[in-house]
Amino acid sequence: MTPGIDSTNDRNLALFERAKKTIPGGVNSPVRAFKAVGGTPRFVQRAQGAYFWDANGKQHTDYIGSWGPMILGHGHPAVLQAVQKAMQDGFSFGAPTEREVELAEAIIAQMPSIDMIRLVSSGTEAAMSAIRLARGATGRSKFIKFEGCYHGHADALLVKAGSGLATFGNPTSAGVPPEVVAHTLVLEYNNLAQLEAAFALHGPELACLMIEPIAGNMNFVRASLPFMIRCRELCTQHGALLIFDEVMTGFRVALGGAQSVYAQLIPGFKPDMTALGKVIGGGMPLAAFGGSRSVMEQLAPLGPVYQAGTLSGNPVATACGLATLREISKPGFFEALSARTQQLTHGLQEAAQAAGQPFCADSQGGMFGFFLLDALPQNYPAVMQTDSPRFNRFFHGMLQRGHYFAPALYEAGFVSAAHTEHDVAETVAAARTVFSELN
Ligand SMILES: *Cc1c(COP(=O)(O)O)cnc(C)c1O
Repeated sequence: MTPGIDSTNDRNLALFERAKKTIPGGVNSPVRAFKAVGGTPRFVQRAQGAYFWDANGKQHTDYIGSWGPMILGHGHPAVLQAVQKAMQDGFSFGAPTEREVELAEAIIAQMPSIDMIRLVSSGTEAAMSAIRLARGATGRSKFIKFEGCYHGHADALLVKAGSGLATFGNPTSAGVPPEVVAHTLVLEYNNLAQLEAAFALHGPELACLMIEPIAGNMNFVRASLPFMIRCRELCTQHGALLIFDEVMTGFRVALGGAQSVYAQLIPGFKPDMTALGKVIGGGMPLAAFGGSRSVMEQLAPLGPVYQAGTLSGNPVATACGLATLREISKPGFFEALSARTQQLTHGLQEAAQAAGQPFCADSQGGMFGFFLLDALPQNYPAVMQTDSPRFNRFFHGMLQRGHYFAPALYEAGFVSAAHTEHDVAETVAAARTVFSELN
């Protein structure tokens, strides 16, 4: 709690109590409720650059950035100007606009795997529609996903591993009938043997394999190189589509997304389809999915796979996304962002080391993860073995000092171009104190 603020004048607490009366759990997306770490969520009043101010007027350095979209920081002048101008011209038309074409072209220019793209309004829609299209294009029903990867909340994706590779998944949410996930095969991330076995058993029935190439919904876990190579080979061999869910990593870990990172390591590498979101909307509701011309031409109105949206390609959202992409395409942008992110992860590493605390971290571009462990986990079970009481104490110690990290150990973090060397140094200094207090 902030000095001078107790429960009688804590506006975050008052708002949370009030919200809980009309909104389930007081929030419109579960992770915001602080259920994993306990305590009171911070209600954001306003944000600027690398900071936001909560309902008590307290300033926080923001390492979430709306879970990734705010790669330029909050209220970037060029983005603000583009959005204000677009608003003057109209909020939504339900008819095509030039900016949708510009945004499609801007995305495709950075991702050679995409010939054509369809704009939607959320990552959930993008991933769900990509799977429908893969099924429609291949005429197959089954698909592979990995434990710990999140692809939005479409029914067929809310699933955990079944009891064996011959059995398919079990729903992770009430309201999802078992029949709906009966075609979803859930495998362990980075587990080559399971991958081989699954294709050996089900190869001819698989429409696609969907993967977060750098998983950001189990903190930060990279697909190993041999694993990614085998995903590509097996999909090609069995006629299944390899779908990269880059809703988080696209335009965040590099201008060309995680696929450009893997393409540097694996000559000629590319996925068949890509789901995008977060950064491409710059903080407005905008997402997309794209792929080769032959696959994308299966979509309505050209082909038999239906997909639509009243607000798809929204003119204000496309203006926001385009202005954001324009800024991050400037020379040196990702080099500077990567360096700032590494300043943070290296600084946290030294702070933990000085306090004798186990710690490891990884990052790519402006996305990072850290674990209070000695070595980086390679899959979801290993991530979940992290000592969560210690993580929660670290989280609250940092929050109290005005440094806002993800309120759950299974979430990635984000640095923006607005974070200065000084901002990060202050965060590292606070971490030094917090780590020493964990002893
Ligand atoms: C955030 C996210 C989604 C879901 O996007 P929404 O816009 O929240 O529906 C899907 N996939 C990945 C990898 C994500 O990080």
